[in-house]
Amino acid sequence: MDIGRLVTKRAHAVDASGIRRIFQLGAQIEDPINLSIGQPDFSVPEPIKRAAVAAIEGDFNGYTQTQGIAELREKLVGWLTRDLGWSFGSPGDPELLVTSGTSGALFLAFLSLLGPGDEAIIPDPYFVMYPHVATMCGGTAVRCDTYPDFRMTAERIEPLITARTKLVLYNAPSNPAGVVGSVQECRDLLDLCRRKGVLLISDEIYDEFTFDDFESDATVGDPKKARCPSPARFLGAQDDVLVIRGFGKTYGVTGWRMGYAAGPAELISHIAKFQQYTYVCAPSIAQHGCIAAMDVDMGPTVAQYKQRRDRLVEALTQWTDVVVPGGAFYLFPRVPEGMTGTQFVERAIERKMLIIPGGIFSDQDTHFRLSFAASERNIERGIEVLGELFSSV
Ligand code: PMP
Repeated sequence: MDIGRLVTKRAHAVDASGIRRIFQLGAQIEDPINLSIGQPDFSVPEPIKRAAVAAIEGDFNGYTQTQGIAELREKLVGWLTRDLGWSFGSPGDPELLVTSGTSGALFLAFLSLLGPGDEAIIPDPYFVMYPHVATMCGGTAVRCDTYPDFRMTAERIEPLITARTKLVLYNAPSNPAGVVGSVQECRDLLDLCRRKGVLLISDEIYDEFTFDDFESDATVGDPKKARCPSPARFLGAQDDVLVIRGFGKTYGVTGWRMGYAAGPAELISHIAKFQQYTYVCAPSIAQHGCIAAMDVDMGPTVAQYKQRRDRLVEALTQWTDVVVPGGAFYLFPRVPEGMTGTQFVERAIERKMLIIPGGIFSDQDTHFRLSFAASERNIERGIEVLGELFSSV
C-alpha cells in the first residue's frame, strides 16, 4: 500500500532525521565521549524512587483525574504561590494541570492556540520540538533571531508580531544555550505581549538548574537560592502568562513523563479537555513519585553542574566564542570560521565525541551544542578532543 499517499502533508512536513542520525551514530561507537545528551546523569534521589515504588505496591495504578492527583496539585499550588506570588482558588480550579511531560503541556497549549495561518514566535536557536509542534497544529513558527547573545528580548520580538501572532514562546534557562534573561528583560517581554494581546508561554523546564552567579530574582521565594527570572513573577501575570515546567530534568526522571502547566483558567480548561482525549492523564505512578520530589533539595547537584560548566567554559574560551550559561546543562559555542556546525560535528564523531550541530536547533549552522550532563571523565576527554579540533583548523 502507498502509505506515503495516505499520510498528511502535516506529517510529511515534519523531519526528524537530523537528530536521529546523531543518536544512530552514537549507538555504533564503543565508549563514546557522549556530550550530546539532554538529560541529567545522576541517579534519581532515593525518596522519589521509594514514593513511586510505594505507589505501585499501594495499588495506585489506575487512571487519575485529568488535572492530576490532589496531593500533587496541592504541593504545586503551594510551590507556585511561594515562587511566583500567584494565588489559586479551590484545589479543583482549572488554573493548574499536571501533564504528560513538559512536551505534553507544550503540545496541547499549541493545539489550543494555534490554527491554520496562525503564528507562534519562538527563539532561534530553539528547543527542537518548537517549530514542529507549530507545524503539527497547522500554524507557523516565526523565528526570533537571538544571535550572538541568545537573549530573546522584547526589542527583537516586537517587529515580528503581526495580526496572525497568537503566542510568544520564551525559554529560560534555554536549550540549547543555557541563557537566563534578566528581570528587566522578562518585564519588557510581558509588557509587550500584554500590549499586543498575545499570550506569553514561558517554558521553565530548567528553572531549578539556575546557577547562583547569575542575576537572580531575589524578590520572592528562598533568598538563598538562585531563581531564574521569570515573566510570570510580576503582578497579575497569572492572567497573561502560561507557565510550563517539568520534573524530568530537575530530578532525573525524564522517562516518567511529568510536567505541569499553570496560567489563565480559560486556556487551561481547553488544554485539560485536549489532555482528556489524548494522554488522558499524566502517569499515575510518576505523579505519586513527584509528590516526594518536591521536598528534595537539588542544590548540591546544581552546584556540581556549575563546576562542570566552569571547567568547560574555561577551556572553550581559549578557542572560541561561548556565552556563559546561567542555567540548564548546555553550552552553545561557535565553530571555527569557514566550517559549518555539521562539518565540525562530523570531525568530532571521527574522534568518538558526540555533540549536536547547531543547525538542528536553528536556521543557521554555525554553532554546536554540548551537554555537560556527563561524567567528569567524559568532560575531560571531550576537552582534549575539542582542543585538537579547534587547533587543527
Ligand atoms: N522544553 C525544553 C526547553 C526542553 O529542553 C525539553 C526536553 N529536552 C522539553 C521542553 C521537554 O521536556 P519533557 O521531557 O518534560 O517533555
